[in-house]
Amino acid sequence: MIAVPRPPAADPLEAFTEDEVRACVDYAKPRQRWGLAAYATDLLVLAALALTGPGRALVRGVAGLAGGWAPGRVVLAIVAVLAVRAAVGLPFSIRAFRQDTRAGLATQGLGGFLRDWAKGRAVGLVLTVVALSALVLGARWEPPGWPVVAAVAAVLLVLALAMAGPVLIEPLFNRFRPLGPGPLRTRLLELAATMRVPVSDVLVADASRRTTRVNAYVSGLGRTRRVVVYDTLLAAAGPEAPDGSGPPASSEAPHGPRTRDGTPGGADEVALVVAHELAHVRHRDVLWGTIGAAALAAVSMLVAVALFDLGQVQRAFGVTELGDPLVAPGLLLLAALGGLAAAPVASAISRWAEARADWVSLEVTRDPVTAVAVERRLALENRADLRPNKLLLLLFASHPQTMARIAQAWLWQERNGRP
Ligand SMILES: [Zn+2]
Repeated sequence: MIAVPRPPAADPLEAFTEDEVRACVDYAKPRQRWGLAAYATDLLVLAALALTGPGRALVRGVAGLAGGWAPGRVVLAIVAVLAVRAAVGLPFSIRAFRQDTRAGLATQGLGGFLRDWAKGRAVGLVLTVVALSALVLGARWEPPGWPVVAAVAAVLLVLALAMAGPVLIEPLFNRFRPLGPGPLRTRLLELAATMRVPVSDVLVADASRRTTRVNAYVSGLGRTRRVVVYDTLLAAAGPEAPDGSGPPASSEAPHGPRTRDGTPGGADEVALVVAHELAHVRHRDVLWGTIGAAALAAVSMLVAVALFDLGQVQRAFGVTELGDPLVAPGLLLLAALGGLAAAPVASAISRWAEARADWVSLEVTRDPVTAVAVERRLALENRADLRPNKLLLLLFASHPQTMARIAQAWLWQERNGRP
């Protein structure tokens, strides 16, 4: 276990101008308020459907379209709940899209945005229908070994999703291509070899069809494991990337900073971001995240079965048992509240893993100047909240705030001297 120093966040004005801070905060704060409003509204909608007479009547009415056929009623009840949630959530999503358009972050029109939104809802619908109807129908049938069977099935579903997601779901939203041969690819594969992380390819996602935001991520398990960088991140590294020898490409990036020795920042920045992602691979963060999610899913199954055995819970949700075809709103409300309760722990673990990946990327690249440049670029191009609310950070943030990440890079520099 490596010791990961996590210094407190520095003042944003130590790394950004006042105008830059204002531009970011003016975007991020309303975005966050509306996001919270959307989240609260979703919980209220679920509560209304699960706990009130009119809400239940609506779900019962839709489920009734299947007549007395239980599986049909189960599926339609789930569809009804998700359809109402989607309809109520859509205006919030469109508002966010419009804000992105005004800020120059969106690169698609409303039509493209709505297609993406519909695809996202459809994927959510399929996954929810599969998981919930299996649970409800399983509870009706009560096979031998129930509810352990439900817990095991939940674990298998989470593992299958983690493995198949990158090849089944991600391509619904983006096209991926291997990074073309050239100095950048050579450099990144060498980096992977140095970090003793076997990678055969770095994939490039066509994120620019949707956004100007820059990002990279790792996903998948076993043979589906991959490191993905947004094409927007590569833009500043030039066409398939000059490696310090090509023409300076920083004119393409509004903030394309140059590293201390005057080479274009692009390729160094990509290498630093990829080092961070490879650190996730080396420390098996995707695997551990999946194991955590699987354990949570298993426990949730056992809790759901136990809760719906209780008379009070049955009365509160107006159902007779977990196998009641109309149990979907109650189950989804409990799932949402469980998710809310788990968020502080999950996000704290995630922030710790991110801080570790940042530290490893500094140890590997020994390039804190580029690390700070990358953080600046991520913050400016993605309009990060440079003055985040401490409570929201604690509850929901998956990554340490920008100024904590920058402070960490400065700390590394202090300890190791200027490379
Ligand atoms: Zn990360």
